[in-house]
Order: sequence, then structure tokens, then C-alpha cells
Amino acid sequence: MTDLSAFREETKAWLEENCPPGARGPGPISNGSSKIKITDADTLVWLERMVEKGWTVPSWPKEVGGGGLNNDEYLVLLEEMAAMGARPALSSFGTSMIGPTLLEFGTDEQKNTHLPRIARAEVEWCQGYSEPGSGSDLASLSTRAEDNGDHFVINGQKTWTSGAHNADWMFCLVRTDPNAPKHEGISFVLLPVDQPGIEIRPIRMLSGESRFNDTFFDNAIAQKTDLVGELNKGWTVGKRLLQHERSGMESLVSGGAKGGKMSLVAEAKRCLGEDNNAIADPAYRSEVLKYEMDNQVFRMAQRRAVEESEGGTPGAVTSIFKIYGTELQQKYYDLLLKMRGVRGFPDTFAKQNDSFSDAEMSTTRDWLFYRAASIYSGSNEVQRNIIAKRVLGLPDG
Ligand SMILES: Cc1cc2nc3c(=O)[nH]c(=O)nc-3n(C[C@H](O)[C@H](O)[C@H](O)COP(=O)(O)OP(=O)(O)OC[C@H]3O[C@@H](n4cnc5c(N)ncnc54)[C@H](O)[C@@H]3O)c2cc1C
Repeated sequence: MTDLSAFREETKAWLEENCPPGARGPGPISNGSSKIKITDADTLVWLERMVEKGWTVPSWPKEVGGGGLNNDEYLVLLEEMAAMGARPALSSFGTSMIGPTLLEFGTDEQKNTHLPRIARAEVEWCQGYSEPGSGSDLASLSTRAEDNGDHFVINGQKTWTSGAHNADWMFCLVRTDPNAPKHEGISFVLLPVDQPGIEIRPIRMLSGESRFNDTFFDNAIAQKTDLVGELNKGWTVGKRLLQHERSGMESLVSGGAKGGKMSLVAEAKRCLGEDNNAIADPAYRSEVLKYEMDNQVFRMAQRRAVEESEGGTPGAVTSIFKIYGTELQQKYYDLLLKMRGVRGFPDTFAKQNDSFSDAEMSTTRDWLFYRAASIYSGSNEVQRNIIAKRVLGLPDG
């Protein structure tokens, strides 16, 4: 038996023994926030066991709380988790964005301070990039950080800061040299969210929920020890973080099941007994099959690119994943909405309605949310520009 086959057998046995029934299939997933308490017993047990094993961040080094798996072992673990429907125990901005970035650019002190806390699900992060006047043209950002001895003093505003109200720490792009060309005067800093100089105001959505915030800095403090990379070289760090975000590794980890997303074919089978006109329509059925095949091919292409990349995350080609992955997500919700018919249209503003299941209740909300997927993390139009310039080598127009 090869080492990898032996690893597969051990992994399968460990997962069978340790993944409780309630952690299989759609359900809650921790994001590590100290402000959100998980109450589901099986989800908690699963998290504890995965933390112990280092498999909340399977490919990170053991010294910082990871599982120390190589790429092949990591993919085996994902396959075995997917086979039994095991949810990831932890999914956060920490695991998918700032963690991998610190592994690459962080000092030993930064790694030893922040990474174990992410791995142990003790902290959640938020992303302070966009500003009211700086979205696609992110490098025009104007939030200022001034040198004040052993710390920076930060003033300005970020917007669309997802989850800032539940986050413990923020990674943030700030301007440290206003006189340098715009890409060259930016630094990348880390700062705790709960401090007197930071005010978080929720942006209310039509549904009444608020997942996003305006974040105001009024003499907020970031310690110099929390400067990542060199002073005024934060653009390089910030861009790399976006590649981690766009790589879609998170969806490989979650088996596409994040937030309870299920296979369309499985859902179609469930609906077959019902009088469902969409499924009876052969044109609709072939659209579902096409989606399922496209999704499989996409995930294989993602895996191949990750395997071929040196640092575990490909570079500018992540923009291709971003475009194709978000278009697929939107297609998924189009098809799901059509399949569920009137069962997909409860009162979207109601929190609960006893005549609809939780999955049905969230159909329209999810469909609406994923309209934004082609905007956040850098709009798909901007990704096309990156592909033209950095992948195809076309002249900058
Ligand atoms: C749901 C959601 C969550 C978000 N979460 C966060 C977060 O946590 N942290 C954070 O920092 N930001 C976050 N954002 C902000 C996000 O990164 C920006 O919305 C995005 O970068 C686009 O910027 P903008 O909204 O200012 O649009 P603009 O930059 O004003 O763009 C408007 C339109 O013009 C197009 N456009 C702009 N420039 C070009 C160009 N050069 N070529 C072709 N087309 C162009 C864009 O594609 C878009 O269609 C989030 C956004 C959303 C919708």
C-alpha cells in the first residue's frame, strides 16, 4: 500500500469515528468569532476534534496549529470529507484570507501570535479594503496611517466591511505615504476591532439584515509590530491576499456545501414526488445536468491549478476562477429558484414560516445575495482586465 493509500484509510477511519451525525450535511459552520456562540452540540464537538487534529487548517504547519498536510494529503482529506458529507469545522476570513497571507509575508512573531488563534477558532477577521471612493480603483484609497513611534494612528473610512460587527480583528490597507505614486504609498496593517478609535455602523439591506458595515477610524491604533510586509509595500501583500480570496480554495474545502448548498440533482430527486413542473420539463432537466457537469469540471480545474502552483495558491489565474465560480454560483441559484417554484417564494422578509423548510425559506434570500458575488472580491469586469493584462499579456489600454 502506498503512503497516500494508507493515509486515505486512516483518514476515513478517523472521520467515521469522529465526525458526529449532526456535522454531516448542511448546517452551522463556525467562523471563529468570539462574539458568536455556536449552540449546536454536534457542531461544537466536531470543531473541538478538528482543532485538536489540526484539521481546521489542514495544510498549515503544525507549529501554528495546522495539520501539516502536503497538497496530496490535503486533497485526500477533502475527498473523504465530501464522501461522507462532513461539513468543514471552521470557515473564516482567517482561514481563507489573512492566515495564508501571514504564512507568506508575516514575521515569526505575527505568525505565532495570530495563526494559532485562527486555527483554534478563537478569532474572526474582517477586511478593511474598500472605501466610499475606492472600490475597483482600490489603490486610490485615502485612509491615512501616521507614524507615532511604536504605533500608527489611523483616520478615515472603510465601507462594505463584511462581518465587522462580529469580527475581533481587521486586516486593513492604509495610506502611509500620501506623496508617493498611489500603489507605492500603501501599507498593510492588522488591528483589533474593539478599540475606542473604531466605530462600526451597519449598512441595512432591504431584508432588514445587515451583513455589511461602514467602518470609521478616528485616531484608531495599529501597533508597528502588526505591520505586515514592508512599510509602503502593502499593495503587494494586499494583492496576494485577494488571490487567496479569489482562488476558491475555500469552496474546495467546504465541498461547495458552505451555508447548506446541496447538489441540484439531489434536490431534484427530493422534489420528484411533488407536482413540480420545472422537473417535468426536459429542457430544464438538461440545464441542471449541464450545471452539474460544469461544476465538476470547474472543481477539477481548480484542483489542478492548486496542485500545479508552488505556494498552494495560483497567482493571476485566480481571476479566472473568480469569474467562472461566481457565474456558476448564480446559475445554481437561478436553477434552484426555478425548481422550487412557489416553495422558493415564502415571505423573504420573515425570519421563519412554519409551512416552509429552512432551505426553502432561504431560497430567494440566497438568490438575491449571490447577485453580489460578481461584485465583491473585485468585480468580474475588473477580473477580466487582470486576465487581459497579467495572464494573456495584452497591452495596458
Ligand atoms: C456583498 C459585498 C461584500 C463586500 N465585502 C467587502 C469587505 O468585506 N471588505 C471590503 O473591503 N470590501 C467589500 N466589498 C466591496 C467590493 O470589493 C467592491 O464593491 C468592489 O470592489 C467594487 O467596487 P465598487 O462597489 O466601489 O464599484 P465601482 O468600482 O464603483 O464599480 C462600478 C462598476 O464599474 C465597473 N468598473 C469599474 N472600474 C472598471 C474598469 N477599470 N474596467 C471595467 N469596468 C469597471 C465595475 O465592474 C462595476 O460594475 C463588498 C462588496 C459587496 C457587494
